[in-house]
Amino acid sequence: MLEVKNISKSFDSLRVLKDISFNVEVGEVVAIIGPSGSGKSTLLRCINQLEKADGGEINVDGVNMFHTENGKAAYAPSKTLRDIRLKIGLVFQNFNLFPHFSVNQNIMEAPLHVLKQPKAEAKANCEELLKKMGLETKGKSYPCELSGGQQQRVSIARALALKPQILFFDEPTSALDPELTGEILKVIKELAKEKMTMVIVTHEMAFARDVANHVIFMDDGYIVEEGTPEEVFGQTQNERTKQFLQRFN
Ligand code: ATP
Ligand code: MG
Repeated sequence: MLEVKNISKSFDSLRVLKDISFNVEVGEVVAIIGPSGSGKSTLLRCINQLEKADGGEINVDGVNMFHTENGKAAYAPSKTLRDIRLKIGLVFQNFNLFPHFSVNQNIMEAPLHVLKQPKAEAKANCEELLKKMGLETKGKSYPCELSGGQQQRVSIARALALKPQILFFDEPTSALDPELTGEILKVIKELAKEKMTMVIVTHEMAFARDVANHVIFMDDGYIVEEGTPEEVFGQTQNERTKQFLQRFN
């Protein structure tokens, strides 16, 4: 589903991603863990085209988005990039909802204006998603009238409205109080049960261990270790991984 090969990225002289490679198969849930500043968000941003990688290769669903040609970054034509972008959804830490749009408008904006869905279809999908998120009474509310956990569920519904083939989460619970974190983790677990392909950057180690099939530990721009949750959380031999995980015990 997703192939990331030898990705590198610098901000001026700061090398933030150093030779990052990994694959995500259909139906897999990948958790990316690692200390602050290790490059996790930058990696998601490069895959989601919010940031341009300097070198390497990214393929989504067999389509090349980006590769390196004679040492130079080469991107797919903009139509291909747009198509790829529709296959991937991204949920941010801070929800990023449109504040002046109602919940319904937030969810239906892209289906109506990007996918050109008929209004009745977009509305029906929106209602179904709100129900799934336990927000069926909130369609007409504005983001400022919702709790953080509710806002995050709206932003998940908004991402799902585009029927993405792979969904990325960048610390979806880190802006939430502990009691609201659980409701978001529950939603993500439900999606995992439905075999939604997901890549989740998280500081919730118990959750990562529970929900992921594959865990990637990043430190200082490298993938230091990856494996099953049991391999990484249960029996790592890597000193840096051990040191990092100790903070959560
Ligand atoms: P956190 O867990 O705190 O979210 P992270 O692993 O997501 O951290 P990144 O946000 O990817 O880390 O940042 C990696 C490094 O790149 C940091 O040193 C950061 O300061 C730097 N960085 C990120 N974005 C930019 C930017 N737009 N310009 C310059 N430096 C940046
Ligand atoms: Mg980050």
